Amino acid sequence: MASENTEHLRDVWNAVCQKISKELDDSVLNNWVDSLRFGGLQDGILTLVVPTAFLKDWLENKYAFKILRFCKEQDPTIERVQIVTGVVGESKLASEKIEKTEEDSDEDFSFGVPLDPELTFENFVVGKPNELAYTAAMRIAESDTVAFNPLFLYGGVGLGKTHLMHAIAWSIKARNKKRTIAYMSAEKFMYQFIRSVRYKDMMSFKEQFRSVDVLMIDDIQFICGKESTQEEFFHTFNALVDNNHQVIVSADKSPSDLEGMEDRLKSRLGWGLVADIHPTTYELRLGILQSKAARASVKIPDKVLEFVAHKITASVRELEGALNRIIASAVFIGKEITVDSAREVLADLLRASEKRVSVEEIQKKVATQYGIKLSDMFSSKRSRQVALPRQIAMYLCKKLTTMSLPEIGKNFGGKDHSTVLHAVKKIQDAMDSDVELSEDVKLLTKILQG
Ligand code: ADP
Ligand code: MG
Repeated sequence: MASENTEHLRDVWNAVCQKISKELDDSVLNNWVDSLRFGGLQDGILTLVVPTAFLKDWLENKYAFKILRFCKEQDPTIERVQIVTGVVGESKLASEKIEKTEEDSDEDFSFGVPLDPELTFENFVVGKPNELAYTAAMRIAESDTVAFNPLFLYGGVGLGKTHLMHAIAWSIKARNKKRTIAYMSAEKFMYQFIRSVRYKDMMSFKEQFRSVDVLMIDDIQFICGKESTQEEFFHTFNALVDNNHQVIVSADKSPSDLEGMEDRLKSRLGWGLVADIHPTTYELRLGILQSKAARASVKIPDKVLEFVAHKITASVRELEGALNRIIASAVFIGKEITVDSAREVLADLLRASEKRVSVEEIQKKVATQYGIKLSDMFSSKRSRQVALPRQIAMYLCKKLTTMSLPEIGKNFGGKDHSTVLHAVKKIQDAMDSDVELSEDVKLLTKILQG
């Protein structure tokens, strides 16, 4: 019976693929139709797996309805098409792909929310800011004994906490299917708890949470100030840890900084390994952009990636958003990607991230700091006393505004772009060797960014 079903699904899928390439006469989609994968059919929902989040958004916006119609024509029981991102196998809808899906569906995680197939270790780019967190996560994923309990991951928004938690879950699942894992946000934990109280179902709530091998609670800061949920979490936590089951928790702050969290819980949360994820560095941002561009199979010049890595600094999430826009403009508007077109496409993001620092402000602040006249910024005087602050000001313009090198030059008394480039490079290099200068520049940056 299973094989009959498999055959039916394969027929449906092949017919749908044919229709997509024939009837949606879209050169872009045709490039990608080979990378669409069948992800299963259950309860009237057909799952379509695509390799990138970008393709998912695009399909959803443009073709979701038509694809559903094709599916319905093949099998009227299909009511909805769900598009998810996922790892793409070698062969296009080989029958083992479907069998694997069917087999997988029985042994899913015991409970909790579904995991995002994109969030794996493989797709996680490691750099100085997240090295400790990554290493700790890998350690937990790869060992069968509990090395530290809990693992507490913390850091600002969009820096990869959720990504690492999903990656741990995928990895454990791949190594040992028998281990049960529950991943959910602290918010969801709270709602389950409230519901169990309301329906007088505490026993099964406790049983459920205490029976998992690995419990992951994301964004624990959510239960700050929520006393009874904290109380219940505390007991769940203790029961799991006492039985040597792994607990992994994430938050936006360190345990001791979690205001509104009970002291005993704070202290227990810090018992295992506390790993923080720092804000991204330029190198990490560039690495992430390169990895994501490669996965989207779109060629983007290094210069453009470098530009984005320089300018979009808030979080990895924002970085991804910027990259998706650039890809979209390249692929669909047919524009060649250059630094200038990227600047155009990202104009609003750039404005938001630079907090409107103007050239004038930079020139004034630097002049004051170094005790030179504002007019020296426009002059060609070469004495070090004047030239160095001027170069620092140019460097800051490059870093803190979206202006191009020629534009900056114009604002410094009509210098050409090579003069500006020289200044930027010189200050960059000097900052590596000259601590005092480096401190000065950092301080100026801080002042200017308010
Ligand atoms: P957080 O949970 O810390 O707010 P997420 O884990 O949701 O952040 O990360 C935000 C986005 O950035 C996700 O799409 C994630 O895949 C991506 N991301 C974060 N850090 C990295 C990294 N080091 N390498 C690749 N992608 C990353
Ligand atoms: Mg998160």
